[in-house]
Amino acid sequence: MTVHDAWEHVPSMPITTSTRRATNDEIAREMDRRGEVIERLEARIEALEAEVERLRTLLRSAVSSADRNCPCHEETPNPCPKCGASVENLEACRAGELTLPVGVYYEIRVALEASHADR
Ligand SMILES: [Zn+2]
Repeated sequence: MTVHDAWEHVPSMPITTSTRRATNDEIAREMDRRGEVIERLEARIEALEAEVERLRTLLRSAVSSADRNCPCHEETPNPCPKCGASVENLEACRAGELTLPVGVYYEIRVALEASHADR
């Protein structure tokens, strides 16, 4: 027996629907409910924004600490014994990408750039 056949055996019954105006109490309860939902959502957004800011601070700290993890600041020593950057070849220090996994380092930089864009 298919589902369709099974429904053939269900006796039909009348369904009546009606609408009415909500009472003032019902309207007030609904407005209170919506107000509470909005308050919960606002609190959640605030908590999430604070969390995002903490994570951004952490990422900025990780990147800047990785960037400083090389002795070749101020163009000396030249070439850098750690990252190999040379002033004559106009090479930037590669401390960041040598300290963190390269993909992670650039993903963090991209994420931080994007966070500046959406402010
Ligand atoms: Zn270096």
